[in-house]
Amino acid sequence: MLYLALALLIFALFFFRKSSAQRKEAGLPGGRIIYTDTHGWGKVEKPLYYAAMDLTGKPDYLVQQNGKIIPVEVKSGRVPDAPYDSHIFQLAAYCLLVEKTYDARPPYGIIHYENKDFAIDYTRELENALLDLLVEMKLDEHKKNVARSHEQNARCTRCGYRNVCDQSLA
Ligand code: SF4
Repeated sequence: MLYLALALLIFALFFFRKSSAQRKEAGLPGGRIIYTDTHGWGKVEKPLYYAAMDLTGKPDYLVQQNGKIIPVEVKSGRVPDAPYDSHIFQLAAYCLLVEKTYDARPPYGIIHYENKDFAIDYTRELENALLDLLVEMKLDEHKKNVARSHEQNARCTRCGYRNVCDQSLA
């Protein structure tokens, strides 16, 4: 369980680091605000796994809509105008896992913030950007040192790896 939590944390951190550049290249969807009824949301009991990419993850909820399975990721806190890139990539990973697990491609996923819900279209472009990112992530796994990709003290201040990171700015 610890392994899984750690893997997800690393996954999220990697997305956070890489996502800005990827977003520029891929033209990620910013998401559209929707209304969702949380009554139909079903908790996900077990993590989903996609062996070909050695990818695992557990969306907070899955909701059935018109025969489709839609993953939902719940984030604490409010969002300014649009979802964060790292959250979009995390949701895209859940869309991929849902597609491979249930053999049914979700047309979109949902990110639920305290103040807004966004539908993120799971386009081929987003899927390709995600796959590129996963490959890059695998390559980085074998490097001893991965350089910090930003100069933002605030980001390091909020980072869970601050105490063990030799590149922390905080
Ligand atoms: S402490 Fe800063 S540099 Fe280190 S992993 Fe976290 S965000 Fe990156």
